[in-house]
Amino acid sequence: MANESTAVKNEGKIRKIVVDRNACIGARSCSIAAANTFEIDDENLAFVKPDPSKFDDDETIMKGAEACPVLAIHLYDEAGKQIFPKE
Ligand code: SF4
Repeated sequence: MANESTAVKNEGKIRKIVVDRNACIGARSCSIAAANTFEIDDENLAFVKPDPSKFDDDETIMKGAEACPVLAIHLYDEAGKQIFPKE
């Protein structure tokens, strides 16, 4: 069953952020690298915070995704193309 946390942004290069919570191992690197975008819940799994207006800038969000050891964070552009991890 898909267990995803998703947020949509209406500006910038990154427009959609998805955390695959089935893949997440609770390493917390994302929430350290991009603390205004990712948070860890009481199941020790990452989720995307609810308010996109308070997110980190795109460069920082990218660093958060890159920090994930299991590539559980997927980023998409305006056209819906996956920009991280590269397909
Ligand atoms: S870095 Fe990856 S594995 Fe670690 S909490 Fe974030 S999404 Fe989960």
